[in-house]
Amino acid sequence: MTFQDLNLNTPLLNALEDLKFETPTPIQEQAFSTIMSGKDVVGIAQTGTGKTFAYMLPILRMLKYSEQKNPRILVMVPTRELVVQVVEEIEKLAAYINVRVAGVYGGVNINTQHQDLLQGQDIIVATPGRLYDLVIRRAVQLKSIQKLVIDEVDVMLDLGFRFQINNILELIPDNRQNIMFSA
Ligand code: AMP
Repeated sequence: MTFQDLNLNTPLLNALEDLKFETPTPIQEQAFSTIMSGKDVVGIAQTGTGKTFAYMLPILRMLKYSEQKNPRILVMVPTRELVVQVVEEIEKLAAYINVRVAGVYGGVNINTQHQDLLQGQDIIVATPGRLYDLVIRRAVQLKSIQKLVIDEVDVMLDLGFRFQINNILELIPDNRQNIMFSA
C-alpha cells in the first residue's frame, strides 16, 4: 500500500512527497479509515512508529478551512518536548494547508502563549496544566473542540495528570471524537 491508496487530498500528498514518505506505517494504515469514520479510537503505538501522522493525516483530511477563533482540534501530550515535536510534525504535513497550529506548555512565560491563542487557532497541542491556566485567563475557549487526541495516554495517567485532564474534559463538548494513543 502507498499513500496514494488512502483517501488523501493533493495538499497532503504533496507534503508527503516533499518528505519523501511513500508508504504508510502499519498504524497509519490501520488508523486512517477508523478515524475518518468519526468513531472513537484507541491506538497502541510506540514512539517512532509514525503515530503522530496516524492521527494527523485523517484529522487534516477532514478539517475545513475556517476563520473562527475557537480551536476545533485539541491534542494533549505529557511533555513540553512532545508538544514541540508534534507541532513540528503538523507543520510539515500541513505545508500546503491553511491551518493555524499553536503549542502551549508549562515552564515558560505564559503571556506569549496567551497572545498566540487570542489570535485564533484551529489546532492546539498542549500539556494539560498550562492549557487549563490559559482557559482560566480566557485566552481560549474549548467549546468548539470536535476532536480530542490524547497521545501517550498511559503516561498521562501515570504522571498524575488525571485531575488536570478531567478539568479539561469538563470544558469540551461531549459529542467530540476521542482519539487515544498508548505505548
Ligand atoms: P512518531 O512515531 O510520530 O514519533 O514518528 C516517528 C518519525 O517517523 C517521525 O520523524 C516521522 O516524521 C517519521 N514518519 C512518520 N510517518 C512516516 C512514514 N510513513 N514513512 C517514513 N517516515 C515516517
